This record gives sequence, C-alpha cells and structure tokens, in this order.
Amino acid sequence: MKLTAFEHRVRARYTALLAALCTCPAVAGAPTLANPWPIGPRDTLIQPQIEAFVQQLLTSMTLEEKVGQMIQADIDSISPQDLHEYKLGSILAGGNAAPDGDVRSPPAAWLRLIDAYSRAAMEKGSTAHAAIPLLFGIDAVHGHARIRGATVFPHNVGLGAAHDPALIYRIGKATAAELSVTGIDWTFAPTVAVVRDPRWGRAYESYSEDPHLVAGYAAAVVSSLQGRLGTAEFMTPGHTVASVKHFLGDGGTIDGRDQFDNPASVAELIRVHAAGYPPAIAAGALTVMASYNAWHGVKMHANHELLSNVLKGRLGFNGFVIGDWNAQEEIPGCTKGDCAAAINAGVDMIMAPDSWKSFYHSTLAHVRAGEISTARIDDAARRILRVKALSGLFTRPLPADRPEAGHFDQLGAPEHRAIARDAVRKSLVLLKNNGALLPLNPRSRILVAGRGADDIGMQSGGWSVDWQGAHNTNADFPGATSLLAGLTTAVNAAGGSVEWNSEGAFEQRPDTAIVIFGEQPYAEFEGDRETLEYASQDTVDLQLLQRLRKQGIPVVAVFLSGRPMWVNREINASDAFVAAWLPGSEGAGLADVLLRTTAGAINVDFSGRLPFSWPATVMPVRLNQRDEAISGVQFPRGYGMDYAHPKQLGLLPEATHAARDRHGADILFANGHVTAPASLYVIDSAGQVRLTSAAQRSPAGALTVSLHPDGVNAVWSGGQTGEFQIGARAQDQAPLAARGMALRLRLRVAVPPAGTVRVGVRCSLPYGADLAARRGGAAVPKDGGQGCGIGPRALFDVTSEFHGARPNQWMNLDLPLACLAQRGAELSRVSALLAVTTDGRFDMTMSEINYVPVDGLTACPPTSPPPHPDR
Ligand code: BGC
Ligand code: BGC
Repeated sequence: MKLTAFEHRVRARYTALLAALCTCPAVAGAPTLANPWPIGPRDTLIQPQIEAFVQQLLTSMTLEEKVGQMIQADIDSISPQDLHEYKLGSILAGGNAAPDGDVRSPPAAWLRLIDAYSRAAMEKGSTAHAAIPLLFGIDAVHGHARIRGATVFPHNVGLGAAHDPALIYRIGKATAAELSVTGIDWTFAPTVAVVRDPRWGRAYESYSEDPHLVAGYAAAVVSSLQGRLGTAEFMTPGHTVASVKHFLGDGGTIDGRDQFDNPASVAELIRVHAAGYPPAIAAGALTVMASYNAWHGVKMHANHELLSNVLKGRLGFNGFVIGDWNAQEEIPGCTKGDCAAAINAGVDMIMAPDSWKSFYHSTLAHVRAGEISTARIDDAARRILRVKALSGLFTRPLPADRPEAGHFDQLGAPEHRAIARDAVRKSLVLLKNNGALLPLNPRSRILVAGRGADDIGMQSGGWSVDWQGAHNTNADFPGATSLLAGLTTAVNAAGGSVEWNSEGAFEQRPDTAIVIFGEQPYAEFEGDRETLEYASQDTVDLQLLQRLRKQGIPVVAVFLSGRPMWVNREINASDAFVAAWLPGSEGAGLADVLLRTTAGAINVDFSGRLPFSWPATVMPVRLNQRDEAISGVQFPRGYGMDYAHPKQLGLLPEATHAARDRHGADILFANGHVTAPASLYVIDSAGQVRLTSAAQRSPAGALTVSLHPDGVNAVWSGGQTGEFQIGARAQDQAPLAARGMALRLRLRVAVPPAGTVRVGVRCSLPYGADLAARRGGAAVPKDGGQGCGIGPRALFDVTSEFHGARPNQWMNLDLPLACLAQRGAELSRVSALLAVTTDGRFDMTMSEINYVPVDGLTACPPTSPPPHPDR
C-alpha cells in the first residue's frame, strides 16, 4: 500500500504515541490507515465570473488590505470608526457582546449597530478598487436566540431526538429569516460535533453520538440557512452564511473536557467526527470553524494536515476557515495577538475579538519577514472574498437599507413559533409510562411543580440572550411560553384545573402531578462535569418526587437537560418520565403531547427517540469503534416509548458506579486533573489563558503550568508577576467558610520562591454591575482586583511557609476560608477558587488541592500589599 505524505506523518505520530502510552509487549493494535479520507468534488463554490471578479480585486489590493480581510474583531473591542483605519474583513458579536453592552437591547439597536459597522467598512475606501463589504457574524445556534423576542428552537440534542431532516430544514429557513431582519449575514452554526462523552458541556450543541444522524442533518441545515446550492435561492436575501463547526474532533476529547485532546484513531476521526463535513461541503457550506481541541497533541488551529491537506484538499472545501475565539493563544509559541502558525496551518480568518489590532500588525510583520508567504495570504483573502461575492454582499444594500431590514415582526413570528412548537413535540422522549399514566385527561385536576416549570431561561439553556444563558428571567423572552403556561392554557381550555407550586404544595388534592426539573443553563466549559449524575449534592427534586409519591399522587417527571444523565433514582420515584432536553421558547409543545384531547383521544403521540445512549451508571456509556454501545447502557440510542405500545418499567439499579478518579465537591485538583467544571488558568500582565493541553505558558511568559502524573507543576520565571488560578463560574463560599473548611494544597517545592508568594481567592463583580455603571455614566468597575471586596487582604502572604520547606518534600499548606471571612471578605461570588501569585522565580508541584475541615481557627497567614494593581 502506498501512503501519502500525510498518512506517513500520521502513522509516525501514532506509533510514537502508542509507544509512549503502551506498556504492552508489542504494538500489535497499531492503527492501520484502511480508511482514507473521502475525496470531495473539486469545484464546489467555484463560479468563473466570481473567480474573475475576485482575481481582479486581489490584484488591486494592498498587503494591508488583504491581511485586514483575514481578521475578525468583536463589537466590544472595536468601534465603527476604527474600520476607517483598519479595513477588517469581519466583525462578530461574541456570546456576551451586545449593543451598548446590554444583551437585553431591542432588535432595532442591533440593526443600527450592524449597519454602523457595515457602513463604516464601505467608507474611506481605496481608489484602486471597489469597497469591500463587511461580513457580520453571531451565534444563532438555536434560532436567533441572542436577540430579544426571537424564536428559540430546541437545542440540537432535542432536534437529534426528532430524527427529522425536514424539520431541521424548516428551522434553518426560519432562523435565516429572523437573522436577516437584523442585518446579520452569518451564523456560527451548525455544530456537527459527534459527541462521544456527554460530560462535555457542549453536548447539547450536538445532534447525536451517531455520525449518520449528524451527517444527514448537516446538509439540511446548510441548505436551509444558505439556500440550496445550484438554485436561484442560494444566498439571496433571507439567507445567511453558515459555519460548520468545530473542525475537527470537538466531540471526542478526553473525558469530554472542553477544548482538550482528542485521542481518536484516524479511522474514527474520519468515520465519526468528520461525518458532517462532506455533506455540508457538498451543500455549499461557505465557512468552516476550526476547533479549539487538539488531535494527538496538536491543536487544530495549528494542524496543517487536517485544515489544509484534508479539509481544503481532500474534502474539497473552497470556502474559508474561520478561527475560534482567540483559539490561537493555546498554540505553543503563540499569543492571541500573534500567531503565524495558525495562518500557516490554514486558518483564513482569525477570530481575534480583543486582539485584532496586534494580530494585524504582527501578521504584517510575519509576511514581511517571510514567515507567512504571500501565496498563503492571497489564498486566504481569495477564499474570504469568494464567500463575500457568493453571498451577494458586493451588490446588496447596507443592512439598514435592505427591504427586509427592520421587519421585527419576523422575530418570533407565529409561523416560526409553530415550527418550534412542532420541534418540541417531536423532540420529547418517553422513558417510562407505568400504568399508562400518560396521556393525561385535560379535564382533571393537575398539580404542576418543580424548579423548571416556569423558567424559560432554564428551558432554553446556554447561548440564549447571552453566552451561558444563566441570568435570564421569563421577561427576557417576550412572546415565549413556559412549560407551565403551555400546560395551564391547554388544561383551562379543556375545563380542567392547574395548581402551580414550585415545591409541590397544593390546596386541592390533584389527580396527577407534573414535576418539571433539570439542569441550570450552561455553555462552553462551565458545563463540563466529572460524572453524569444529575443530583449528587442537591436532591431537592428527588425529594419532591418522593414526597408526592408518598401522598399517593401519580407523578409525571419532565426532565430538562442538555444531555443524557444518570437519573435512575428520579425515574424510580416517578410513574412516567419524559426527557425534554432544552426545548426553547415554545413550551406549549409539551402540553400537546402530555394531554389528551378534550374528547379523550390521543392528541400527539411521542415520536422522539434517544439520540444518545442513556447511561446506566454515572459514567458515560462507552461506544466501540463501530459506535455500538459496549457497556453501561440503561436505554439504548434509538429508544423511546409511545402511547401506541404501552409497557411497564421495573425498578432501575440505584448504585452510581463512579470511576474512582472522579472528584467530589470537596476536591479542586487531584489525579492529574482539575475538577470539572473548574479550569486551570495562567495569568500575567498580557492576559490569561486557560490550560487545555499538557502545558500552557502565560502570554508574557511569567509562568508555565504543566500536568504530570504526580500533579500540576507551576514554574514562575521571575522578573514579572504571574498568577496560577483555578477558576470557575462564581460561587458562594460563605457556607464553606462557616463550616470551618480550609483550602489545602498538597505540594512540593523544587525551587523556593525568590519573591513574595500570595495565596487566596478572587471574586467577580455581581452580574450586570458593569452595565449599571456604564448606564450611570461611571467608569466600568474592575473586578475587585485583589478580590472579594477586601482588597489585598483576600490574598495571604505565605512566603515563609515555603522557605521552611525541605526541597522536594511533600507538605500541606492550609488556608482557612474563615481567615478570609474574618477579614471581611465578601465570599458570595468567588470565581478564582485558588489564586497563587508571585513575581520572583519559583517552582512547585501541587498533587492535590481540596477542602478540609480545620479544628478551630489556627493562626491566619499575614497579609501584605498587592503585587500589582489590576489582577
Ligand atoms: C465558541 C464558538 C463560537 C465563538 C463565538 C467560541 O468560544 O467555541 O462556537 O462560535 O466562541 O462566540
Ligand atoms: C464570549 C463568547 C466566547 C467565549 C469564549 C465569551 O466571553 O462572549 O463568544 O465564545 O468568551 O471563551
């Protein structure tokens, strides 16, 4: 067999990897390359007149203009006026970015903003050629859900349960129509990740663990967003550029950790993770987003083989590759503002939200120094201009002048909501229905309870209004229907009655209770988990189910989640159990299926089937190379009951079977990994970077952190301040302090500190504080700096502890949280659960970081002035 150069390299890397990992006698199982990458058509998206136009344009463009086209900035960090000087190719609104910094801005403000950027890009143009229109992008990943009043469709996991490409097509059309009235021409969707471990916080962005289902949907969503390739509708008004993401292997990272390494074989990469790309490319996908993750240790943004040889070569992709949000900073040797490696690997447009200016200058310097070839720049610029030309941008009016602009009645239009409601009905999966409890008689007395019943934010999940979607109330979704409201309307109309109480209290004894509960909203990495156990700490929902059951009331459980989870106890405590995923704005779809018609007939039967294997233990189901479940399955993929075929479900096992290295809430770091969803960060004066590989250097080189079998090693180079952090979504640590807990670091020192070492916690501002300040005309407050409302006193000087230490001897360092509390720390919003900072040389390894009870309050370490003001 003759191997290509790429295959040779892969084989070499693979053999090395196996040799490193394998203590087995022979490398008998070394992967073969029996599965070559499919060869796509050469000429998709190539049209002679467009190519001639682009060529003409390129010849009259300066290097600066070409490099400008290759950069995308975020609205938070660039003004329309900046575009007069810096002719950037694109602007995005990141997950938390919005007009005037307010994610609750009305649609008209969005249109005004997008128009202002687009207009500025066309002004002060070149005399050598026509002005080049701007492409504006946003994450419309389940409808245009960042915008107030838009239709919020179920997240992809629910759409996967529907097994219905025609439905996907209708959703894509509606989404594109809603985008167009706000003047936006590009959505960062669809996600075609084939998720293998649903502990990943982005599992809900995946349609399925089944590559065939994802492949089938990929074409439908691309051709609905963009219009059908090869027909007159392609990219005409009312359509939007799609972005197939994240190339490649995002759904296959180790333990489902966001942005980490994907260890798949070549065969699995092709058959599983790449499944969505050939059909999306054939459907004319104009852009592909590169992924944060690595494959066998090489970050995708630096992977020339996969981006250039495979995607643009073998698979025949002729659109452009957009990078992901500052993903370049995770490449060794790069910072967010400087990364020739990403351009050279094949990223055509860099997403440099706040780093665009330095990226622009550094890229120009790299070209002048010959580190990036002009051929590479021409290739990237050509692809970007091709996409702009194909999408009609050169001939379309500016956003506000378009006929469809400002027709905000399209946002949440009744016909779009009808599609979303249909999608909700089709996405529901019935896992249990003992005694044929469902469908319910709508003329009966129904108690609705549970924390998810009247919470549209919870039923919508992440990427709704803002990035994490964790701060929404029902008022943020005008025109939407909560699950409770949908049930109430239907029952009242039929002549029954609904009593609503979140905790399940009632005045009149109900015939049945519907209890709606589940996951709180999350998005990228904040949604990662150690296990799939739904309720390890908080058993409020389970108790509610059990309480109602004990009173002899039949219970229907409706579970909201972005993934399959281990809920055997909750299933056992219910008579009927429905997996409802993250249904979005049209909660009435639930009532359509749960309730009979007034006449007593079945209204809509369940048709949803599991898109993911449902776990029998708290650990994810393991899939084999042929993606059959090999162990740990409670309900197989494809499972789902319906009214037509009633059956009984016996009691399910209630042992959790957690893997031994999975952490509980009292551990922050152990067994070589930080407890999900927390992350390790390295920080210095040039910014902060999340650790997503074996080692990460802080941007200005103050410290390097690396993972080893015996722990996490942090090495400060000296001469500047660097900080090691364990960061997470802000949490309330006052209860931990009240319980007398101390943060304990088990560590050994290789090189004692040359400067002062401070250890403590840091806090974030209360939600919305920056917006409130901006509105009040005040300067935007910074994070308390030294944190938690007590300035420098939230960090303790522990230098002397290290000086007493014997070199390389394991020792414990305890920081009683009560010390912080005692000095007035506001512990309700701790976002850096641990911060270690110093400005001198220092080298230590931490094997375990956890919370331990301390007997009484021993002496608190001294405090001292902060090392530097802003961090
Ligand atoms: C995500 C992408 C998203 C981008 C822009 C990134 O962090 O990984 O999926 O499109 O941000 O918001
Ligand atoms: C942005 C998102 C982005 C994320 C990545 C957020 O602040 O708003 O768009 O995906 O950061 O870390």
